[in-house]
Amino acid sequence: MVQRFMTALICAGLAAALAGCRPSSQNVHREGAETGRSAESAAPRDGGPGLAFGGGNVSGDSPVQSEERGMKRAQEDKPATSMPGDLSKVSDAEWRKRLTAEQFYVTRQKGTERAFTGKFDKHFEPGTYTCICCGETLFVSDAKYNSGCGWPAFHTPADGGRITETEDRSHGMIRTEVTCTRCGAHLGHVFNDGPAPTGVRYCINSASLDFQPKGGASEEKPEEK
Ligand code: FE
Repeated sequence: MVQRFMTALICAGLAAALAGCRPSSQNVHREGAETGRSAESAAPRDGGPGLAFGGGNVSGDSPVQSEERGMKRAQEDKPATSMPGDLSKVSDAEWRKRLTAEQFYVTRQKGTERAFTGKFDKHFEPGTYTCICCGETLFVSDAKYNSGCGWPAFHTPADGGRITETEDRSHGMIRTEVTCTRCGAHLGHVFNDGPAPTGVRYCINSASLDFQPKGGASEEKPEEK
């Protein structure tokens, strides 16, 4: 465990010093200045939710259907209540009702789950990863790989610009934060130490994600750790 933690720290340090390769621009909406990229930090982060909205989805659902699906999956043990169509109007109190404590901390308070604890870190079933808050399609399994950093890693986001990249200067580092374009959920960070074809690593918290298995719900979802 100590070795894994040290590996994650080393990855973070190396990635912070790197800059360069970028994924296909059609997949990403970028805000703010260009930044270097570094690995996801295990340290909790300060700051508000930073809501940003826009875009649709690649699942074929309408935005409302996608939102309802995401909310339903995020709230399997939560009471069902109606949500406004404009997700910028969703209050923190409502998000708290919709999400688990860890999901709220990560997605709405820019938190980071502990390395090697997320349910999707070693999950490699075929399917689609969606936003736990709004159901937006974010990544597909074909782009997922085992980076060894302790968090789910993807080399490419899903087509359609469903994620937003923003400069993040918190915690004395210059990093690139990744958020859901539709609802503003914090997802993680993106770094320049990924594999081909993009050379980048989207380091994403499991708590920010839901999973839709390819071909339907016949495959079991991984257990919460
Ligand atoms: Fe979202």
